[in-house]
Amino acid sequence: MKRWNGWGDEATTYPLPGSAAHYLADLVGEGLHLQDATLEQTLQAVPSSCLAPHPLISTDPEERLRHARGQSLPDWIALRSGQIRAFPDGVAYPVSGEEVRSLLEYARKTNIKLIPFGGGTSVVGHINPLPGEAPILTMDLSRLNRLLALDETSQLATFEAGVSGPEIEKQLNGRGYTLGHFPQSFELSTLGGWIVTRSSGQQSYHYGRIEALFAGGHVETPIGTMDLPAHPASAAGPDLKQLLLGSEGRLGVVTRATLRVRRFPEFEAFYGVFFHNWEQGSNAVRQITQAGVGVSMLRMSNSMETTTTLALSGQDALVKLAGRGLRAVGFGNERALLVFGVTGTRRQATQARLEALEIIRAHGGLMTGTAIGKMWKKSRFYSPYLRNTLWEAGYALDTLETAIPWSEVAGTAEEAQKVLREGLANIGERVLVFAHLSHVYHDGASIYITYLYRRANDPSTSLRASPSDSLRTGPEETLRRWQVLKEAASRVILAHGGTISHQHGVGLDHAQYLAAEKGPLGMQTLKSVIRLFDPDGMMNPGKLLAI
Ligand SMILES: Cc1cc2nc3c(=O)[nH]c(=O)nc-3n(C[C@H](O)[C@H](O)[C@H](O)COP(=O)(O)OP(=O)(O)OC[C@H]3O[C@@H](n4cnc5c(N)ncnc54)[C@H](O)[C@@H]3O)c2cc1C
Repeated sequence: MKRWNGWGDEATTYPLPGSAAHYLADLVGEGLHLQDATLEQTLQAVPSSCLAPHPLISTDPEERLRHARGQSLPDWIALRSGQIRAFPDGVAYPVSGEEVRSLLEYARKTNIKLIPFGGGTSVVGHINPLPGEAPILTMDLSRLNRLLALDETSQLATFEAGVSGPEIEKQLNGRGYTLGHFPQSFELSTLGGWIVTRSSGQQSYHYGRIEALFAGGHVETPIGTMDLPAHPASAAGPDLKQLLLGSEGRLGVVTRATLRVRRFPEFEAFYGVFFHNWEQGSNAVRQITQAGVGVSMLRMSNSMETTTTLALSGQDALVKLAGRGLRAVGFGNERALLVFGVTGTRRQATQARLEALEIIRAHGGLMTGTAIGKMWKKSRFYSPYLRNTLWEAGYALDTLETAIPWSEVAGTAEEAQKVLREGLANIGERVLVFAHLSHVYHDGASIYITYLYRRANDPSTSLRASPSDSLRTGPEETLRRWQVLKEAASRVILAHGGTISHQHGVGLDHAQYLAAEKGPLGMQTLKSVIRLFDPDGMMNPGKLLAI
């Protein structure tokens, strides 16, 4: 069963290796083992529902709690402390497009606010109900999970939009195809969620981001149904699919989508490469991309991420041995790890590997073979489970990301990490910060930063600006630390001209930064489009835009 207050399946755990606990204690201090609210305690806080009985709507308190928050750090703090400001009044699980339509009409007639819910993996507050007068209905789309059609000649597959990553691949792989969309949240996130948050998978370099995979679809909006035909290309005016991509549940509910799929690859492998430092590695991946080498993924960690990944891997003996070997051939503490993949026919994969290696060697990189690549592949969807363990060990962990032209990559990454590292120094707390380039493009890259700090004790006074500030509880203080760090790094990203999100979307947490990117006319355009499709403001209010 899915955890109600953390990541993933309850039966899966990621124990913290003993050496990792020492590593973290050295870098940020001993974590505090703090008590979390239990499910029973949290259920007590669920108020009675404001919704009238309806055959398609459950008002069960546990269903409502399980749909109240996503996976952002503020969500975790709320869930783990049992301090959740607002709950949906009911949850519906439609099984057809017709049921979606009828629920939309019911909500519109009875002034209910409606939140589409895919896998609930949002990390920016997309699916959180906001406190207010009107009843809130969450529409969980997980039962819309069928493959409806596979056109093998055109390599187009049509799925219902609530289908999850594993369900998509299972249905396609059985027929010899793959979509190839592998966000780290693959296990739980859904097709509809990917489309409306403009998701990017770990191998998007090869398969394309969801914008490229999404060929057309079907949307139920408050004012009617919109069909987006799957054309291979079109010059018939602006592309309306672009309205839907990134719409974050504000325009309607995606019920079906047609996707560009491919034959399952004949060959795939992932390799580990060490560079003397991040700068050399970044230059190499830029050159690989700009030369058009046909690799399928490139993940270039900085030295702190390289060291931390190895420290948390639990493979102490192996890591020590590798460290000694690398030192012997001149790789010092600044060494930085690249994992790259090749996917396709054997011939394509061999050619891509050889071309990439030529550039890697020219930048002083050392190819170590497939062992690290295999470890990466094995843990690619497992590593989010570490967040549960770290929280229980007393540490809060969050990530943030941007995309920016190559000329700004190094400066932005350095400055954003610096403000995070020093962001809690005034209260004597240290922050562990590391980064990688997660996606690379011809003209720039996505910088993906992870930061970890200690959860606060209860009650805490640490961040009181003045003695008259009220005392904060532990969860309030943990949240306050997050706000300080998130804001500092977001300001750096904007100052350098980066996007506020490369793949996580806007939701609630990035809404205040959107205007800096879109400008006044852009914001007005978005507002007008939302109001056109949703004149009563019933769809996922407050997300993307604060309206
Ligand atoms: C551990 C972890 C790793 C992650 N890794 C990645 C990654 O590698 N790449 C990436 O892109 N993202 C990643 N994310 C973020 C998240 O998984 C994505 O934003 C994902 O696209 C959300 O999909 P979902 O189905 O869970 O949507 P939800 O979280 O349920 O909803 C997100 C938004 O989509 C709307 N929505 C959902 N379904 C529909 C629908 N059918 N019609 C209309 N609106 C809908 C909701 O109203 C909401 O606004 C990660 C998150 C976590 C927790």
